[in-house]
Amino acid sequence: MKTDNSHGLYEQALRYFPGGVNSPVRAFRAVGREPLFITRGRGSRIWDADDNESIDYVCSWGPLILGHAHPQVVAAIEEAAEKGTSFGAPTERETALAREISGALPSMERLRFVNSGTEATMSALRVARAYTGRNQVLKFEGCYHGHADSFLVRAGSGAATLGLPDSPGVPASCAQDTLLAPYNDIHAVERLFGTQGREIAAVIVEPVAANMGVVLPAPQFLEALRQITQAFGALLIFDEVITGFRVAYGGAQTLYNVIPDLTCLGKIIGGGLPVGAYGGKREIMEMVAPSGPVYQAGTLSGNPLAMAAGLATLWELGQGQVYTILEEKGRHLARGLREAAARTGRPFQVAQMGSLLTPFFASEEVVDYVSARAADTQAYARFFWGMLQRGVSLPPSQFEAAFISLAHTQADVDATIAAAQEVLREMAS
Ligand SMILES: *Cc1c(COP(=O)(O)O)cnc(C)c1O
Repeated sequence: MKTDNSHGLYEQALRYFPGGVNSPVRAFRAVGREPLFITRGRGSRIWDADDNESIDYVCSWGPLILGHAHPQVVAAIEEAAEKGTSFGAPTERETALAREISGALPSMERLRFVNSGTEATMSALRVARAYTGRNQVLKFEGCYHGHADSFLVRAGSGAATLGLPDSPGVPASCAQDTLLAPYNDIHAVERLFGTQGREIAAVIVEPVAANMGVVLPAPQFLEALRQITQAFGALLIFDEVITGFRVAYGGAQTLYNVIPDLTCLGKIIGGGLPVGAYGGKREIMEMVAPSGPVYQAGTLSGNPLAMAAGLATLWELGQGQVYTILEEKGRHLARGLREAAARTGRPFQVAQMGSLLTPFFASEEVVDYVSARAADTQAYARFFWGMLQRGVSLPPSQFEAAFISLAHTQADVDATIAAAQEVLREMAS
């Protein structure tokens, strides 16, 4: 596989950006490679600077549930752009997209658009703290909620209890207010509430975890979080930045019928443009300025192009049997990968829900961060590279979800399975 042009572009980028990129996983370091520079995408396919074509399962890390350059989304952006790209004043499209979101996730009685998932979670936490008059937040190891200080807390168990910051630059005073529990471990949550339940403003969780690879919630886990937060007067925040409009039109909360106080969205609702949103119960969200005292603002929030792309995307997702089709594709791919691995006798788990999927090179089922970390990342790196050479672009890390879009055809999925059979066989020999 020729990568000369990507290599040249990477060398130039290294002169300007830390690590040559504008977001760390793009650098391919977890798979020991240099990044490919992408020049175009269409449907399920992307092309890099050396014109290598691949079936793309990164899909911009989630937003592109319709695939690349969907004609309706492109048309909506063009139409909006011709009338002006930003006004810093209210526009009708914001209300239209909010109506669609609030209709799909009725718990979002009031909401606010922001420009990224990070802004959504950061702002939701501020509101939760203001509403409860408490400071602490409980998050789960291996869950990602963007890069705000409060959420960048180390997942290692010893340091975890001390609340040491994960990243230099996060003040210990800030990290101290972040409590950690293992995903799916309700007893750990109960213990934390038992000792300091009246200081916890909120529990934030990915209702289906997708940032340590895909990890499904255990039966009753989300229900138990709902009960314990309610009992202690803490808020439950669902970070549905990935799962919103992904696992179901109404997100994981609709699928599991567990209703959070606040919800964070991003990715899909922007249709490939930068958008986030947070929202929830009216009396909580009325705390946000200008109706209340909690300050949060944004020059480009509710941007016309982004709203147009989001509306066009949700409109397509509202049609017919979209989620049944995505589930079938996901199940088909998961089954194919499992069978391919079983033939080689390699320890292998596929976690899948709808169009979210992770092949783990692990012998035990992955239920939390510790079991995810037990996966063989070197095996994943070899698998990743073998697949890429056969025209299948997987996420360049064991700990990221693969995303299937509506543009992925049965033939794409079959080709992916055939490639996996070859690569796994090669890895076994
Ligand atoms: C991607 C992601 C975020 C952060 O969104 P950005 O737009 O990258 O800031 C937050 N939470 C979850 C669950 C995510 O997957």
